[in-house]
Amino acid sequence: QVLQARGKSYHPSCFRCVVCRQSLEGQPFSVDADTRAYCVSDYHKVQAPLCAACKVPILPTGLTESIRVVSFDRNYHVECYSVLSIVLCSLFHIHFME
Ligand SMILES: [Zn+2]
Ligand SMILES: [Zn+2]
Repeated sequence: QVLQARGKSYHPSCFRCVVCRQSLEGQPFSVDADTRAYCVSDYHKVQAPLCAACKVPILPTGLTESIRVVSFDRNYHVECYSVLSIVLCSLFHIHFME
């Protein structure tokens, strides 16, 4: 038996997550642009966008995708962005009052 992923063939025993080496046979998995296979949790860790405010990957929480804010090509956690926008807003207002 041979597994197919992105047009490449793998032995089931060779088809492993490149991070944790667990077999992905029968598991949900993701393949990156270099056709490296990841288990779903490692894929999120590796591919998750970094929050521009706190530098922590923005990971999905539970079953739903995490909500992130994209602003000027940067990603933010919703919580980080709301804190940041309050800071920006106060800076802006202070600036205007000068
Ligand atoms: Zn893994
Ligand atoms: Zn953040």
